[in-house]
Amino acid sequence: MDANDTCTRAWARIDLAALRANVTALRAKAPGAAFMAVVKADGYGHGMVPCARAALEAGATWLGAATPHEALALRAAGLGGRVLCWLWTPGGPWRECVEADIDVTVSGRWALHEAAAAARDAGRQARVQLKIDAGLGRNGAQPADWPDLVRAARRAERDGLVRVTGVWAHFSCADEPGHPSTERELDVFRTAVAQAEDAGLTPEVRHIANSPGTLTLPEAHFDLVRPGVAMYGISPVPQTGGPADFGLRPVMTLAGRLASVKRVPGGHGVSYGHQYVTPGETTLALIPLGYADGVPRHASGAGPVLVAGKWRTVAGRVAMDQFVVDLGGDTASPGDEAVLFGPGDRGEPTAEDWARACGTIAYEIVTRIGPRVPRVYAGAR
Ligand SMILES: *Cc1c(COP(=O)(O)O)cnc(C)c1O
Repeated sequence: MDANDTCTRAWARIDLAALRANVTALRAKAPGAAFMAVVKADGYGHGMVPCARAALEAGATWLGAATPHEALALRAAGLGGRVLCWLWTPGGPWRECVEADIDVTVSGRWALHEAAAAARDAGRQARVQLKIDAGLGRNGAQPADWPDLVRAARRAERDGLVRVTGVWAHFSCADEPGHPSTERELDVFRTAVAQAEDAGLTPEVRHIANSPGTLTLPEAHFDLVRPGVAMYGISPVPQTGGPADFGLRPVMTLAGRLASVKRVPGGHGVSYGHQYVTPGETTLALIPLGYADGVPRHASGAGPVLVAGKWRTVAGRVAMDQFVVDLGGDTASPGDEAVLFGPGDRGEPTAEDWARACGTIAYEIVTRIGPRVPRVYAGAR
């Protein structure tokens, strides 16, 4: 599909060749580890299924999803490979996941119980990965509760109901190089692995590394790495380096067509609340993307956009469906392209630039691009 033919308002162009190259670059950083492509949250807003497919083509052997429904959607799309999901609540679709050959994460006794019951109902073993809370304080068993969980999991293995395929954890501060909690969390994780093995478990994969861990902590690679944001070409440690410094290229370009270009006199208010007033006679251009499309309202008066060859700044408030930029003395025509962010090598801002302008992280910029914006895929195999 070509954006120019199919999208008259706005689109997010997804460069699958860049995504494959990013997977290759990340695999080279962790050559001894299997690669789990994290595709939760609709592939960080890039489209879950096309991105998962491209990652598998580039050598990923695992797909990572947060919710079981995401994992089931990967299988429903016909994708192979191993799939792990981790964000469960009681009564979740355990049986459907067991039947769809999905590895499920267990952080406590209630979840082990539900996984084992699903295995009994399905008449096949549940593949279970045990999660330790190494210090993040979210999901995962507390170290004090871990020995009890691994013993219970071993009993369920002996009963033929589950097979423990992995032991894993998630870092809290790996994006802050040298943060003391990272070493502490690695110690907790190593101890948890040793306790699991002492209890008779034989996990295929032990894993803890997200994108920053994959790029900056070789001692954290273990058997498998789980990069998300880096696979989409966004630096997970922007204070250390941009994507190019890690051999990565941003995958998403968000662009639209100018819906209006007009001359207005000086002193003209712009958008709700008139927080911007034209300093003199000027040209205003209207971009048909707003907060309902995921353009943060916090970008009001701050977000950068490439229009008519230069960076402009959002003038006044971002509205639900649209925002305005002041072209000053420059000219443009309705239908001209406005690029909010992209790889940055055609002069456009990047998602990181938007994150800085809005006081957030680039993860949030790309994942919030809404369903009204069509994803246009380039570089599919
Ligand atoms: C989101 C997530 C990842 C990927 O994190 P990035 O920082 O995007 O690499 C890995 N593991 C878990 C458990 C996650 O929730």
